[in-house]
Amino acid sequence: MTNAPSTPLVTFIGAGPGAAAHLTLGAYQALQQADVVIHDRLVGAEVLALIPENVTLIDVGKEGFGTSTDQSKIDALLVAQALPGRRVVRLKGGDCGIFGRMDEEMEALDAAGIAFTILPGLTAATVAAAEIGQSLTRRGRNTALRILTGYDVAGYADHDWAGIARSGEVSAIYMGKKSARFIQGRLLMHGAAHDTPVSVVANVSRPDQQIIGATLATLPQAVAEANGPAIILLGLAPRAAANSLPQLQEAQA
Ligand code: SAH
Repeated sequence: MTNAPSTPLVTFIGAGPGAAAHLTLGAYQALQQADVVIHDRLVGAEVLALIPENVTLIDVGKEGFGTSTDQSKIDALLVAQALPGRRVVRLKGGDCGIFGRMDEEMEALDAAGIAFTILPGLTAATVAAAEIGQSLTRRGRNTALRILTGYDVAGYADHDWAGIARSGEVSAIYMGKKSARFIQGRLLMHGAAHDTPVSVVANVSRPDQQIIGATLATLPQAVAEANGPAIILLGLAPRAAANSLPQLQEAQA
């Protein structure tokens, strides 16, 4: 960062889904130079452990969509911490620009005349796909990738179900645990095959990562097995001989 500490500046950082191995070098460097780090619950312990001890750590622990009251408190906190000229990092799980409510915070900073920069991170879907040994796009299979939320401000989110239901399509569904049965019903209603492959990956890139292979028919049961935040990769099965998991465990040992 070239700005002097006296110039209010906030750096939004995507921490990746968990492991330190999934943090970018730029993010790591910004964490070393921070005065204050304001982070979410989804930021992994390995990443938090890389923050120097003299940095003030503020946990605004909020997974997925919180209430608007919670969010406005975070917006105000960000402004209050940055205004005196502290180097503030706003650390979010995965990529800060995917279902991270970054816009509300950017707007609060704009309104207060505080500059910011954004360092994106690896999103849960990208790392989950790697962990099941699959590519999110494949020549001849899918020409698009959908990034969906199961849940939005109005409740269960509505989508282009017919498009998602087509054979070969791939969708990464965030915050889909509670709405799994709803999603299953909508997709079957729009012609999806019962045996459409599905992977549910919980606690991606953490020591307790779970990979649950399923089909659209068994999606609700698969999701019920997940012990933590989970991403649903619709249209992708875990590769039988996926080798990324043992490597990951080795890196964390
Ligand atoms: N900004 C985050 C997404 C935040 S929304 C990102 O880019 O990954 C919260 C949802 O993200 C969770 O409900 C879950 O679906 C997914 N998610 C985030 N971190 C995860 C992790 N480590 N393992 C599995 N799913 C995760």
